[in-house]
Amino acid sequence: MDKHKGNLFILSAPSGAGKSTLYKALLSQDNNVRISISHTTRTPRTGEEHGREYYFIDDESFLDMIAEDAFFEHAQVFDNYYGTSKESIFGMLEQGLDVILEIDWQGARQIRQLYPEAIGIFILPPSLQALEERLRKRATDSDEVIQRRMAKAVNEMSHYHEYDFVIVNDDFDEALSQISSVFTAMRSKTPVMQEKYGNLINDLLSL
Ligand code: GDP
Ligand code: ADP
Ligand code: 5GP
Repeated sequence: MDKHKGNLFILSAPSGAGKSTLYKALLSQDNNVRISISHTTRTPRTGEEHGREYYFIDDESFLDMIAEDAFFEHAQVFDNYYGTSKESIFGMLEQGLDVILEIDWQGARQIRQLYPEAIGIFILPPSLQALEERLRKRATDSDEVIQRRMAKAVNEMSHYHEYDFVIVNDDFDEALSQISSVFTAMRSKTPVMQEKYGNLINDLLSL
């Protein structure tokens, strides 16, 4: 088999729609997928670990990384900075791994400019009421933060049409099966197969 690059996926959704739960389930069943770990200036939630969910850094370090051109993209979301470092994605793509960026619509726009082959997936909740219930059930944010996230949800969701695929996360297993199908299908796109099976295709066409 020839050397081939992985696919870059962008996963966006309003906070609470279930994107973290979905990608974690996907990672546990698909060995070829990795998540890019972003840097953020927000404080860790209970249960979050530096280097697992995010690299939690202070504003000064974040600004230093911007100055060093270490980010592939970065954005201000709510009151914090979030960014994807170049280092967090290119090594894995070169190894043939599929990489997920769990980023907001502003980051997605930047990525599409820089990397047009990126595949966008937008996760929608089944209703606004379900979204709010999930944010409350998660119990990681204060009432004030939940209200701000709900207010931003409609704005985030208004960008759904900028993505290649849309998944409604109502029944979790169904949503997982849909996202998994997207990953599988994208591995059989003709340009991907040409890169992966170039030698085979040459042999088959050389008679
Ligand atoms: P969640 O929405 O409840 O999962 O909360 P998070 O704090 O994990 O994410 C906050 C926001 O930052 C979301 O809209 C993410 O999509 C976005 N985000 C996370 N990582 C990145 C990143 O590396 N770049 C950009 N541009 N956005 C990111
Ligand atoms: P996000 O990463 O988009 O902010 P999370 O993955 O943290 O969202 O999900 C928010 C909450 O909703 C979590 O408590 C999660 O267990 C729950 N959840 C996710 N998907 C579903 C679903 N299909 N049905 C019910 N609850 C869900
Ligand atoms: P949370 O604070 O709930 O973890 O994330 C809030 C928002 O920031 C989410 O919509 C998430 O997708 C986005 N986000 C997280 N990391 C990044 C990042 O590296 N870049 C950008 N642009 N957005 C991010």
